[in-house]
Amino acid sequence: MQIAVSGGKGGTGKSTIAINLAIALKEYFDLVLADLDVEAPNDHILLNVELQNEEPVHMFMPHFDYSKCIKCKKCAEICEENAIITMKDGTPFLIPTLCSGCRGCEIVCPVPEAILERQKTMGHTYLTNTVYGFPLITGKLLEGEERAMPIVVAAKERAQKLKKELLLVDTAAGTSNTVSKALENSKLLIAVTEPTPLGLHDLELILKLADLMGIETWIVLNRSSLGNREGVQKVAKEYGVKIVAEIPYSENIIHSYIEGKPIVLSENKEAEVFKELAKKVAEYVG
Ligand code: SF4
Ligand code: SF4
Repeated sequence: MQIAVSGGKGGTGKSTIAINLAIALKEYFDLVLADLDVEAPNDHILLNVELQNEEPVHMFMPHFDYSKCIKCKKCAEICEENAIITMKDGTPFLIPTLCSGCRGCEIVCPVPEAILERQKTMGHTYLTNTVYGFPLITGKLLEGEERAMPIVVAAKERAQKLKKELLLVDTAAGTSNTVSKALENSKLLIAVTEPTPLGLHDLELILKLADLMGIETWIVLNRSSLGNREGVQKVAKEYGVKIVAEIPYSENIIHSYIEGKPIVLSENKEAEVFKELAKKVAEYVG
């Protein structure tokens, strides 16, 4: 069983919702939280834990053996990423930053072992034991790398291998293909938004994506006391989606960041919102 926390716009408090919901859901499920915001993972920071059990994520990269290459240019012609350029005489050269690791060049090359396999490290995944009773899987793209997909896939697979009752996925912001990959197979999407023009715009994008993917969606309205709350209600009505929780702007939440203690562990009204949300989720997913 997988549920996802996402939100079109960055900075809406998506990770705060994800980690607090994970702690509250522990009451109902044996779960794993997967931070698939691989370009800027921060669930471990909010949970106040050090990343553990690092594993590298490699990607195929072609390496030309010029003693065997017959300079036929077939590798360059097949490459959809234009990652191979050829000299006038047909000698191929790789532009590593453009390569997606698809192996198309290796498949079409007519000369055995003219293209050799090299592995490039794209990033890492981590399996961190937390003090909250559930493990955290984190995907982290290396700085300077642009291809996030292999890290999202590797982190998600590592989380799935734990075979927990519930996989709670925290996606990146936006509606890119890596967000779609993170959302894949979710029974429920919790779309986190805030009542600002940008928040509303990006909420519509994630609602459209969820609709296309056939995923049941609920809205959590963060910082609900600021801005255009009615606008969010209007969008929710248009898409037939429920607003299941509203979290007002709160000094208590700011203090929880400073103390490094998730707000759901406190005794206050903000903590109750997360506990109520977890109860609704547990009732929905059974
Ligand atoms: S692996 Fe794919 S993307 Fe990379 S150079 Fe070969 S064909 Fe191009
Ligand atoms: S397809 Fe193979 S033989 Fe042809 S240019 Fe590329 S590496 Fe050389």
